[in-house]
Amino acid sequence: MTRARTAIIAGNWKMNFGPTEAKHFVKEILPEIGQVLYGSGSTQTLCILCPPTISLEAVRTVLDTLPASQQNYIELGAQNMYFEEKGAFTGEISPAMIHELCSAVILGHSERRMYFGETNEVVNKKAKAALQHGLRPIICIGENQEQHEAGQTEQVIREQVQNCLCNFPVERLQDIVVAYEPIWAIGSGKAATAEGAGNVAQAIRQLYRTMYNEEVANALHILYGGSVTSENINEFMAHPDIDGALVGGASIKADFVGIVRNVVV
Ligand code: PEP
Repeated sequence: MTRARTAIIAGNWKMNFGPTEAKHFVKEILPEIGQVLYGSGSTQTLCILCPPTISLEAVRTVLDTLPASQQNYIELGAQNMYFEEKGAFTGEISPAMIHELCSAVILGHSERRMYFGETNEVVNKKAKAALQHGLRPIICIGENQEQHEAGQTEQVIREQVQNCLCNFPVERLQDIVVAYEPIWAIGSGKAATAEGAGNVAQAIRQLYRTMYNEEVANALHILYGGSVTSENINEFMAHPDIDGALVGGASIKADFVGIVRNVVV
């Protein structure tokens, strides 16, 4: 099937694998991912590995051993960053520091919003800073269980899209990735239905169209996240508005290779 946009499979390792384990794991999966992505000679799938910050350099070292021809479609991403350039922000990491090792960064994950108080406004500032420093932001949005059950998904998504994705520099719009992650589906083993996730992805694209324009909306990458495995990935990929997945639990297991394989073939 020819896709309108490159497929993206991003793995959010969360707070798993320090440098030693991360190196070990990536050495294990990388040859297989390389074989899957490049076996046919060309690829339409981008794979982004997002280890904890402390392990980025260890994983970078392994990725750098790939032949140059294979480095374009296996990227390294961080799980968070701060929006300021530098200074007295103890414990934080700046966009330029992330950019030394990475090409992407996950922003506004529901766990960051839930445990660290990140708001839509903070996520927007971070996304703008990421874009200014040449990083591809993977911006997470999604409703919680209560909102889902109360039929408020559309309203929550609208607020998040309008406030997280606004005022971006037009010349960098092609690098934006949105991950629709219903919070009730994260780590629960209960994925959304492909139809439900697809409808929300379509609504996100439509909102984005009204904020920017047709061309930009058609280029926007929208991922689904929430209990994705190699068994259900194809259902999501079959929806024309879903361009890939942000994978949590399955990204630190061999199943991640299975997910990439099912997207590629
Ligand atoms: C996530 O945390 O972004 C995620 C999608 O997790 P899981 O795949 O484990 O549901």
